[in-house]
Amino acid sequence: MRLLDITPCISPRLGVFPGDTPFRLEVLRELARGDNFGLSAVHSTVHLGAHADAPCHYPPGGPGIEACALEPYLGPCEVVRVPLPRGSRVRPGDLPPATPRAPRLLFRTDSFPDPEAWNPDFCSLSPELVAVLAERGVRLVGIDTPSIDPQEDRELRSHRAVGERGLAILEGLMLGSVEPGLYTLIALPLPLEGADASPVRAVLLDDGGRSLAGPLLSPPPGDSSSASGPSTPDPA
Ligand SMILES: [Zn+2]
Repeated sequence: MRLLDITPCISPRLGVFPGDTPFRLEVLRELARGDNFGLSAVHSTVHLGAHADAPCHYPPGGPGIEACALEPYLGPCEVVRVPLPRGSRVRPGDLPPATPRAPRLLFRTDSFPDPEAWNPDFCSLSPELVAVLAERGVRLVGIDTPSIDPQEDRELRSHRAVGERGLAILEGLMLGSVEPGLYTLIALPLPLEGADASPVRAVLLDDGGRSLAGPLLSPPPGDSSSASGPSTPDPA
């Protein structure tokens, strides 16, 4: 079974939102300098590369990332490709037929192709899409851009739509070489107390979404084109 790493390398070159804190490794002890061990510290935004947003990133009073349930970040997952013009919000009508098929849905937009060369016109999600997906049983949305809202959106409308429905968010994924289909997602955040996000090491198992216990979603009414699967939604 193939393991697909969908995490960009973390380095000082990795792009962060304008005004945010880029990654820096502070070397405190170094073998090459004659120290008897290597030791370093990290300075960085928590919205670094592939990362999970915590509820306290958007509505007032939300919990930090350490209080978030882990189940949404682990289990059957669908990757969809939505080839839209730069700057678009993905809308319900942009979903491929029979999507969503799994409780975790990752959007490959190809609109932020180089994480070390920031482009502000990346694609994002619409609040209407978030509402539709939540109704259909999706528990996590992920995207291959720095945010599920456009860079200039000060209201964070899709983040708020996610918060109102208790979904989880992954941003900054690398999906450029991932074919649409079903996988098993593993992308666990660190329990950083009070933090509004955490970097994750996000990987996909190329297993058709079958490695871990947990059902896929049933197809929408009247749809006969999707793969068969158990009929109960994932309670996670
Ligand atoms: Zn974020």
